[in-house]
Amino acid sequence: MARALYIHWPFCLAKCPYCDFNSHVRERVDHARWQDGLLADMRHEHALAGGEPLESIFFGGGTPSLMPPALVARLLQEAEALWGFAPGIEITLEGNPSSVEAANYAALAQVGVNRVSLGLQALDDATLRFLGRLHDASEGLKALEVAQRHFQRVSFDLIYARPGQSLNDWRAELDRALASGTGHLSLYQLTIEPGTRFETMVRKGDFVPLDEDACADMFALTREVTVAAGLPAYEISNHARPGEESRHNLTYWRYQDYCGIGPGAHGRRGGVATVRHRKPENWLAAMAQSAHGIVEERPLAIPEQASEAMLMGLRLREGVDLGAMAARFGLTADQLCDPAKARFYEGQGLVWRDGARVGVNGEGMVLLDGLLSELVPEQLVAG
Ligand code: SF4
Repeated sequence: MARALYIHWPFCLAKCPYCDFNSHVRERVDHARWQDGLLADMRHEHALAGGEPLESIFFGGGTPSLMPPALVARLLQEAEALWGFAPGIEITLEGNPSSVEAANYAALAQVGVNRVSLGLQALDDATLRFLGRLHDASEGLKALEVAQRHFQRVSFDLIYARPGQSLNDWRAELDRALASGTGHLSLYQLTIEPGTRFETMVRKGDFVPLDEDACADMFALTREVTVAAGLPAYEISNHARPGEESRHNLTYWRYQDYCGIGPGAHGRRGGVATVRHRKPENWLAAMAQSAHGIVEERPLAIPEQASEAMLMGLRLREGVDLGAMAARFGLTADQLCDPAKARFYEGQGLVWRDGARVGVNGEGMVLLDGLLSELVPEQLVAG
């Protein structure tokens, strides 16, 4: 039963050159039409997923901090009327730290948002320009302060392993980030994604990404510094003080059901994968035609569900309880995780095992993709 709701707001003021998210720049957005559409998509999802009071809502994007607070309020009101809210519900909104958006923070907090995740990305002007961000460093830090005043919980993102960045540069930036007193940080390595402007630039030789060894050193440093600061990684890229973890994102990584509405949103409910129309105009057209934005609704075979659950769970420091997962999917622990490989990589210091639990340790996380294909048997991945 889904107890988490994801709402996608697909608009941004500009497209960042590294971004491969479902984000679009439009001169005008008809907010009334979007409100009607998102409300209808939500009702459709509730009619199918039904159920229990929500424990988390996440407004992702795009840039949801550009949404008028009245629109956020209306969507929250509808979600509460449909599902009800569990006590202490976590309501997160992703945002950019521009002064225009910071002016909305008080109103967003007032309508019920209690956690924000800010895309600071870097703390110096030259890097922010390189990343194509519209805010500068002082504007970003000011917005962070405003957010910390208004919201109970504030997280922010930084991108590291940038071309030309040294280990010392990153250590200094990380120290400054931690000095902000934040309880949660998302720290991502810069990756060059297909179809992005950065991909074209790398192809043309405009810049050279950092090599693998330098990236691995930065990853190790990140873990060391955040542990020392009391915000250890609880997921490969996410760090939190104990109790400050994103409950919404844990829903994905623990492979629990969630509803997703709005353009391009994915959902998982009762073994069915849902995908919404990706392009905003196509999603709106679908809303007008059939009052929901679903483009694909696909029952997942048990091995596919189990494989997804393993690939998600092994991103987490807590790892996976193979006994519980085997019972959930009617499989054996050995079908979920190759015991000989797990033993081998445990011997290499990359994997840990504790009773029925298995997980990837700090040294292994840097090699996570390779380890996943080793540990999760091929026939499970192939479904
Ligand atoms: S603001 Fe975020 S979602 Fe929008 S283009 Fe930049 S990285 Fe992508």
